[in-house]
Amino acid sequence: MSITPTQDSSSNFRQKIYRREEHGISRKNISQNALNVLYDLNAAGYQAYLVGGGVRDLLLGLKPKDFDVATDASPEQVRQVFRNSRIIGRRFQIVHVHYGREIIEVSTFRAPSEQSTEIPGSSLSRRVKHLDSAHSQDGMILRDNVFGSIEEDAIRRDFTVNALYYTVRNFEVLDFTGGMQDLQQGTMRIIGDPELRYREDPVRTLRAIRLAAKLDFQIEEHSAKAIKPAAKLLLSVPAARLFDEFLKLFFNGHGQSTFRQLLAFEVFAFLFPPVAEFITTEQDQAMLHGAFASTDKRIAVGKSVTPAFLLAAILWPAVRRLFSQNLQTGMPPMPAMHDAGESVIKQQQETLSIPKRFSIPMREIWEYQLRLERRSGKRAFALLSHKRFRAAYDFLLLRADSGEDLQELANWWTQFQDADKDQRQAMQNKLGPADVSKSRKRRVKSRKGSK
Ligand code: ATP
Ligand code: MG
Repeated sequence: MSITPTQDSSSNFRQKIYRREEHGISRKNISQNALNVLYDLNAAGYQAYLVGGGVRDLLLGLKPKDFDVATDASPEQVRQVFRNSRIIGRRFQIVHVHYGREIIEVSTFRAPSEQSTEIPGSSLSRRVKHLDSAHSQDGMILRDNVFGSIEEDAIRRDFTVNALYYTVRNFEVLDFTGGMQDLQQGTMRIIGDPELRYREDPVRTLRAIRLAAKLDFQIEEHSAKAIKPAAKLLLSVPAARLFDEFLKLFFNGHGQSTFRQLLAFEVFAFLFPPVAEFITTEQDQAMLHGAFASTDKRIAVGKSVTPAFLLAAILWPAVRRLFSQNLQTGMPPMPAMHDAGESVIKQQQETLSIPKRFSIPMREIWEYQLRLERRSGKRAFALLSHKRFRAAYDFLLLRADSGEDLQELANWWTQFQDADKDQRQAMQNKLGPADVSKSRKRRVKSRKGSK
């Protein structure tokens, strides 16, 4: 019998304990509310640990985004300890403890699903207190409320670096999967058999890529190899959950490198099927690179960002093509754009749903691309004061920068905004009726180009 070395290393690992002086986590970097939750649960006689991204980020010297707590108390018992708490019944039952705007998430130790406990060589025994789990036919976990021990809780987590437990009883870090070593080496390693773990929850492929990009970690060989074959399973993940993941993927300041990795692992096309055929060449990707880069830049300097703009850019290649196809059938430009936007969004919703509060502004951004071409008379002045002008103008720049023949139009709008009242009037006068024919010419050109 042959043994695959890396794959099973996390399950053969024996528990390791790191003392306070060995790990360097300081309580002053942990939110007071999270500490209170740990102390209060301990005082009520329960085990309680900080776990997940919080511990991982503390060990790396980063500021954790949020703090998650794991405990042996049941959700009901946790509820009784904290009056300011609520049981949230999503896929897993967890308890939210509210402190003003901060929420500490408390989850009860969970056992892995039936399938993932069948890890060869695993030394972990299975002590299931309460069984409530279900799988779909293709092995995806549907419901997962099987309470277990801390060791079991560790191996049902996704990556070894996410399965480190910190306790305020003696300030130790408990490691059941070799996460500390992986953390020191900058390795993202999935716990257990990669193929099985991605099948159970395909979103783990996205988490691997996102966290590796955020932490600048390498995905371990076996964990990486299994991503590509699992990517198509993303199509069966609920569309609303994928929208949540989309936000996490691209609004953390590392959107562009995440995009590169999603392309490299051939995952991106499964998130955005309407643009699958437009991302095969550098040229095609230009618009998307531009959009991710500018989102990262805005986040870096604390400017606001909206999913509507980014989604409008991601889907633009598909909208643009359908728009010119519609023109060819004789549809006037505005209805042609309206229809293109609507169809592409509809197709997109099947995989990754976009809430209305974003899909409406997306369509406005697209439709304003036509309005920006029509500048004569009083139109340009009116557009300037429209609430969607800024986004539409930024979108136009993005299109111009990514190779569409629009530099002249983009420059005109840049100058028009910077100009004073008289200069603006002069710019308008200069346009005259020629403006209309110019934009018509461009449409004819794009019609020819798309044949
Ligand atoms: P972030 O910095 O984005 O918050 P995180 O690792 O804390 O990263 P969360 O979504 O907050 O991500 O999840 C908290 C923890 O729950 C993870 O660290 C991991 O241990 C576990 N977890 C989250 N999602 C999964 C999943 N799909 N499968 C298994 N374990 C998961
Ligand atoms: Mg977290």
